[in-house]
Amino acid sequence: MADSQSNRAAVQATNDDASASKLSCVKKGYMQDDYIQLFVRKPVRRSPIINRGYFARWAALRKLLYQFLDCERHTEGKGTKKQILSLGAGFDTMYFQLQDEGKAPDLYVELDFKEVTSKKAAIIEAYGQLRERIGTTAYISQEKGEVISEHYKLLPVDLRDIPKLDDIISLANIDPSLPTFIIAECVLIYLDPDSSRAIVGWTSKTFSTAVFFLYEQIHPDDAFGLQMIRNLESRGCALLGIHATPTLSAKENLFIDQGWQTMKGFML
Ligand code: SAH
Repeated sequence: MADSQSNRAAVQATNDDASASKLSCVKKGYMQDDYIQLFVRKPVRRSPIINRGYFARWAALRKLLYQFLDCERHTEGKGTKKQILSLGAGFDTMYFQLQDEGKAPDLYVELDFKEVTSKKAAIIEAYGQLRERIGTTAYISQEKGEVISEHYKLLPVDLRDIPKLDDIISLANIDPSLPTFIIAECVLIYLDPDSSRAIVGWTSKTFSTAVFFLYEQIHPDDAFGLQMIRNLESRGCALLGIHATPTLSAKENLFIDQGWQTMKGFML
């Protein structure tokens, strides 16, 4: 399995990069996030083009997430209970922000490699303002890389291990019949195409009413793409999935082939 993914540590480091870039945006006033500073050890100032790119990524996800959370659709006797499942969540702070905004869903589940969830669990444990948002009775284990509370769960898993994903459903108390928003933001592109396909297929089989938000790189062959791939490869971090789905329509086809009913691609 180790071979089917570009360097594990390098892929995990992309999470530190994303967190530092988000903090750079926050400091410049592109977006608000009171929590990301807690997850960044070495703040950096990014160039305007990077800040704008991150802003577009942040705004696109928020727009769709709010549409999902604000939608009042009553499923038989279940009110408007909703779930969010974040695959390769890294140090994303969306849950804490949604709590502050009074918009958090009934259940928010984050998955990542244990190395990453352990660090996240330690940071959550260390800061009262994070602990307050998940509830003071939460179970937090840095050793296991787990945080378990009523409405928020952080669990370690290698996403390529599909049987383990099935275990996560019961472990995290996910109800596959509830409306669920699945997030994969700059994650599947680092996996080999067979693994990404299996994960997309697993989500379509598992959830009866769901939205899948995929955000990742395309167009490896234009000038921007060539440079991007060179940069990432020099850090030992190959975009293993980019040649199997190099365009929006290839990504749309992947989802349709794996059982999703509709898929709409946008370029930012
Ligand atoms: N989604 C977050 C983090 C992106 S960085 C954001 O947009 O800010 C990519 C994340 O995916 C890293 O935290 C990395 O550890 C995780 N990841 C990559 N491959 C994975 C795998 N096979 N299993 C679990 N997590 C994985």
